[in-house]
Amino acid sequence: PSKEYELLRRRIYFNTKEFWYYVSYELRLLARTVKGIKPFTIQMIKNINEQYLSLLNDIAKLATVDDHAQWRRKEYIYLRTLVQKRLRFLQNPEDCSKAKKLFCNLISDRRSCGYGCRLHHIVNCLVVAYATKRTLFLNNPHDWGFTSSGFSSLFFPLSNTCTSSLDSNETVLPWPGNESAQVVNLTLPIAVPDGSNRMRRQLPPPFDPLVLPEDLSRRIRVLHGDPSVWWIGQFVNYIIRPQLSTIDMFQGYEENMEFERPTVGVHIRRTDKIGSSHKLEEYMYYVEQYYKQQQMNGKDLFKTIYLATDDPTLFEVAYKRYPDYHIFGDPELSKTGSVATRELDKSIVNINIDLFFLSQCNYLVCTFSSHVCRLAYEIINGNKYADASTQFTSLDDVYYFSDQIRRLHVAILPHKSNRPQEMDLQVGDEIEVAGNELNGYSKGTHLRTNKTLLYLTFKVIQKIEVMYFESYPDIKI
Ligand code: GDP
Repeated sequence: PSKEYELLRRRIYFNTKEFWYYVSYELRLLARTVKGIKPFTIQMIKNINEQYLSLLNDIAKLATVDDHAQWRRKEYIYLRTLVQKRLRFLQNPEDCSKAKKLFCNLISDRRSCGYGCRLHHIVNCLVVAYATKRTLFLNNPHDWGFTSSGFSSLFFPLSNTCTSSLDSNETVLPWPGNESAQVVNLTLPIAVPDGSNRMRRQLPPPFDPLVLPEDLSRRIRVLHGDPSVWWIGQFVNYIIRPQLSTIDMFQGYEENMEFERPTVGVHIRRTDKIGSSHKLEEYMYYVEQYYKQQQMNGKDLFKTIYLATDDPTLFEVAYKRYPDYHIFGDPELSKTGSVATRELDKSIVNINIDLFFLSQCNYLVCTFSSHVCRLAYEIINGNKYADASTQFTSLDDVYYFSDQIRRLHVAILPHKSNRPQEMDLQVGDEIEVAGNELNGYSKGTHLRTNKTLLYLTFKVIQKIEVMYFESYPDIKI
């Protein structure tokens, strides 16, 4: 397929969703404001929903007809292999003492930065290392300053050849250093909450992890509906290359549980994030939508979910309220997932078991405000599906990388606002995205007027930013 075809196909898919969000929201609003029409609108929403799922289903098929699925798989394997090979090359210099290095000093606050948060900081460091062609070293390579042995006992080290700590006679310059400096020291500041649930931190510009490398950007954009996620997924998957004993452990769980796909991964984040929590029913609504859509293909699937959560009490509630579902997952894993114990090795193992199963699922329902949910989504995209950008529902945020600088939309249709909450749009206007309101509108800051207002999501497309990164010309497939 051509680039135009792929971009258009995805745009139709995403806008069909936006159309449904808009219509169903407005109808519900109408039912609340106009007396006596509720039964009529409920029936209407039901009928429109069926049509909507049927449309989504047909559009999804456009991704696979005419050998497109084979093409996508091949392209995905090529790009993935290339990036992984470059990372292996970068991280394993023949002579470590001569290699240029990036020393990443991670000093995140233990209480505010859990496993996913830390892993994302390492991704951040590895992106900078890749872009500047410097072998990455961490100040705490085995434990990430987190557990006594959790990380190094589960995954392969970042490097096989640069294993000892820095040589005392190597010259170390603080970031950004210069070309000739052998070691550049990048200290990632303590993550600080920005008033919402997010940790706000500035990466030394210009390496925003959402920015794509110039040499691969075109191909990644054709391949994937959310190219930055695919890109970040490559770094995550390099960092968490499981050791054989880890694979054995995952497989042991898989057999014990008699885990079967297709299934929907549901991640419910509670404990210290309880303020922003959503009801189990909200997650299950989207699970139901997934199975309804599958039924349209004549597949009467046995309904299953994999439940991952830091709140073990949710399992009993789920068993009771959803007896028609088979619920995979282990409440024991959640018990060590609480804030108080999250630094223990066991909690690292448990969160990784949950992440492994979430990333085996065909669809994810979770909240992107959680690192864990975003991590599962990145793993799926980087390692399992060529393009899983349509295989999730986030109940809150749009996808973001916690250390990102910005995510942009660009207007492709003009708009004249008819209420003060909405912005005017001219074709080409750029907006820094704050979120999707799930009612046909997104919220963002218009870069020209600097005002934060609403805009119709179908009138914009994503703007993918591109930069020159080291292109590793000697690495061939
Ligand atoms: P965030 O706080 O959700 O953005 O993500 P973090 O990874 O930074 O911190 C959450 C921590 O809670 C994780 O590191 C886990 O220890 C724990 N946790 C959250 N969700 C789960 C889950 O589904 N399973 C398990 N086992 N632990 C979880």
